[in-house]
Amino acid sequence: MSEHPRSPKDARRMERLKHGSRSVRDVRPRAAPRQRAHRPAPVLGSIQAGTSGEPTVVLSKRAVDRLSEGHAWIYRSDIAAPDKLSGGEVVRLADERGWFLGKAFYGSRSQIAVRLLTREDEPVDEQFFVHRLAQAIALRDVVRPDPERRQAARLVHGEADLLPGLIVDRYADCLSMQTLIEATDARRELFASLLERLLAPRAIVERNDVRVRAHEGLEQRKGMLRGESPGPVEFLEGEVKLVADLLSGQKTGAFLDQAENRIEAGRYAKGRALDCFTYGGAFALQLARKAERVIAVDISEQAAAQGREVAARNRVENVEFKVANAFDLLRAESEAGAHYDTIVLDPPAFAKSKDTIEAALRGYKEINLRAFHLMSPGGALVTCSCSFQVDDATFERTVLQAASDARRSVQVIERRGAAKDHPTLLGVPETRYLKCLILRVL
Ligand code: SAH
Repeated sequence: MSEHPRSPKDARRMERLKHGSRSVRDVRPRAAPRQRAHRPAPVLGSIQAGTSGEPTVVLSKRAVDRLSEGHAWIYRSDIAAPDKLSGGEVVRLADERGWFLGKAFYGSRSQIAVRLLTREDEPVDEQFFVHRLAQAIALRDVVRPDPERRQAARLVHGEADLLPGLIVDRYADCLSMQTLIEATDARRELFASLLERLLAPRAIVERNDVRVRAHEGLEQRKGMLRGESPGPVEFLEGEVKLVADLLSGQKTGAFLDQAENRIEAGRYAKGRALDCFTYGGAFALQLARKAERVIAVDISEQAAAQGREVAARNRVENVEFKVANAFDLLRAESEAGAHYDTIVLDPPAFAKSKDTIEAALRGYKEINLRAFHLMSPGGALVTCSCSFQVDDATFERTVLQAASDARRSVQVIERRGAAKDHPTLLGVPETRYLKCLILRVL
């Protein structure tokens, strides 16, 4: 609400208040000089241990800025660490003057040397992890409608839950866990015990057969941490029954990050539908509820076999699974002049590192261009990218280039990301990787 001056004097008063002037400041009582807590600046390398005795890692000015901008990772070039620090230790973070900044997991191999656990000066002990896990689970209790019906969720999403390098997915009464960095890998028994205590699962599977572990010097591993091999586990997505094989499926058994997008995609499905990169048919089965016929394509024979099995389980007969390279199939279909009313593109991450961004963008452009050629007027295109290296704006620009090359006008119906049980951490762009555009092609 703006105040109006009632007289010229009043106007001058307001002007002074707005811009500040000596006279205005002088009428206020002078504040007593601020008492600075006298803490001598410690000498680098001789910083005193913290309250809980962890070794201290000193961060450069640049790293301090990065932390205060919300990031949770600090690179090795930005730290000074004691010589005898082992990978996986909890360390205190201090700035060059010795001020406490937080506590973090230290990694000895990865370029990411430090991953933030807390900005508080608190003990990082078993109780700390119990609290972190409980906090993570509490979010899922809020964002998952009817968890006992659905029976699946990501319970812990790594850095975004301030549990860096730890992933925990729930499928029915079983858990699938990934410990992706030295610190969580060294504590996997602890995490298994805590999860057992908190959730009493029938089984806990370890899915550490992922390449990112190589950056941490960790080997590929999968197997049981608790209980017996669970076999295929059924869960619900909307009205569709899905199945996860926790030991041999891709990822931790399924791609839970797309759960909400798949249900939403189902809303727009109609006519002839095409689901490219279908894996176990999770998008295809949502589309099948409204579309007349769905073609579901994956390069993996195992994926298609799983898809057929899941379709049968749902008594769905209008989905045909094809084993093919989606690039070839899209080209062949567009050269044959085929048309579709609904298309889903959910490819694997084309950009795995900075060096592959250009090639990835060519890949996204190509599949989207083909899809635009194939779309009937009024049709829906659900197009996704899970490459975090390609940000929202770049992905959208690439899709636009494809649309304009295909001379199509396109409405954006929804700009979506990962499901709510995959939160992102404000200030850590790496935790926001999945993009899903729901488009209507005019
Ligand atoms: N849409 C799926 C997840 C897809 S993951 C879901 O919602 O569950 C990516 C899938 O693409 C994998 O199953 C992989 O086998 C498949 N894939 C990778 N390259 C491919 C290609 N060139 N053509 C077709 N499928 C491919």
